[in-house]
Amino acid sequence: MSEHVRLNKLRESKSKLYEMHGFAPRIINQPYLEELKVGVRPSKETLHELQKGSSDFVNKYENRSLVAELSCLLEDIPLDEPLKTHRYTSRCPIDVLEVNPMSGCNVNCLYCLVVDGDHSAPKKLYKNYASYLRRKLTEDNGADHCYYFAPQTEPFQESTLQTGTAHDILREFIAYFKQKPKSKSKVFVLSKAGKEELQYKNNGDTILDLMRKLSGNLVYHTSISVMPPELYPVLEPRAASIENRLEAAVLCQENKIEADWAVVQPAIPAFLTDKTIDDLLRKFKEANLKGFKPEMLTLSIKNLAWIGQLTGYIDKSMEKKLYELYTAPENKNNVKHKNRVAPNREFTHKAMMKLKEHADKLGLDMTICSWVRSELNITPKEVPVVMRKNLIGNRPAEIGVCKPAIGLHRTKRI
Ligand code: SF4
Repeated sequence: MSEHVRLNKLRESKSKLYEMHGFAPRIINQPYLEELKVGVRPSKETLHELQKGSSDFVNKYENRSLVAELSCLLEDIPLDEPLKTHRYTSRCPIDVLEVNPMSGCNVNCLYCLVVDGDHSAPKKLYKNYASYLRRKLTEDNGADHCYYFAPQTEPFQESTLQTGTAHDILREFIAYFKQKPKSKSKVFVLSKAGKEELQYKNNGDTILDLMRKLSGNLVYHTSISVMPPELYPVLEPRAASIENRLEAAVLCQENKIEADWAVVQPAIPAFLTDKTIDDLLRKFKEANLKGFKPEMLTLSIKNLAWIGQLTGYIDKSMEKKLYELYTAPENKNNVKHKNRVAPNREFTHKAMMKLKEHADKLGLDMTICSWVRSELNITPKEVPVVMRKNLIGNRPAEIGVCKPAIGLHRTKRI
């Protein structure tokens, strides 16, 4: 029997989803696209998905069920279940293991690629996760891995913090490295946490205290989304602000935790202008970041019907651009993982080059995911593969997990 736990808000809810004056969810169909003057004609199948996705959106918006209650169910994970290998594309490495203490996520991002933005399923937190992890680490018998905490959920959110699960996971890793001081394994944390999350206490320890104890064995990357400012409270109802996430990265650095890179994800492609890129990268400089890895928004067509019209509330031309970038028939096979479509290749290539140009100007490093590199034929000369020494074992690995890919073409090491 699972126990239902209500959680306390970490910060005042900033969701503005139901306070968008004059917004009315619409069905996205061919007449709607024509009204918007979208310059591509999606296939029948794509139109069907847009229509289905938007009809679902209308229902959920009207029932006010897009942002789920702040709660979770406490359950046990079977102890014999193996840790999942983190491998979304054939270009991903084989020795990154996922540490996912929960199914679902309370941050409730409406573009979430784990659940295609739909957070209606109950969130299950595995209350025995620390002992499960201890067992998996023992079974690993000292092999070198990158433990990715947590690709399927936010590692530091109300449920993992208020139950002490996030603290206990870090405690397990501390005990593991104490027992195996020669281990070359690494813990990789990718998080949208702000300072509140990192300073959350359990049995006298904050997350920061525990990550500090893992210094040398842990790499922290802040996860930064890029979209019009008015969209953050709509698309990421319970996440820390971008400023707060960068402050969290600085706090880590001050505590000798390796936290000098950002994974920029998702970037809403139509929002990437010279000005927005420059503003963002200057913030990175101020937060002492050395580099970043951009990932364009990838999403299912059904989810595009949500994100498109919410973006359109802020800027209709941006909404039009989104449909053009994702729904053209020639873009149909531009699928990264599951049913997630990536934006038009030519546009993405140009956007990546623009990002790189600004990064160079400001003295920041930039790298890109191996799948994107191969899809867009971006050479290491255009965007070097940035390798972090000893990310897994003695081998250098490409920075910016989702893939610490074991790189072949090393052009730069840090
Ligand atoms: S924080 Fe990550 S896992 Fe959680 S809802 Fe947002 S995108 Fe999904």
